[in-house]
Amino acid sequence: MKSGEYTMKVNDNCVGCGQCTAFCKLDAIEVRGKANMTAACIDCKTCSAYCPVKAIEA
Ligand code: SF4
Ligand code: SF4
Repeated sequence: MKSGEYTMKVNDNCVGCGQCTAFCKLDAIEVRGKANMTAACIDCKTCSAYCPVKAIEA
């Protein structure tokens, strides 16, 4: 997969807590009120397992 073509989506459950950012090795999550993946995301799906409200979908 080429960079910048990630498919991870953050749904409306996101409360902007920022916890997911600690688990992304590529620092590919930006949180400004709500989490968003940057072009650095490689779809590894690691972060989705750690979101307490299951807001990150592959
Ligand atoms: S995606 Fe989940 S862990 Fe990340 S900021 Fe939103 S609610 Fe928090
Ligand atoms: S899927 Fe992987 S690379 Fe993308 S934001 Fe989540 S932990 Fe980071």
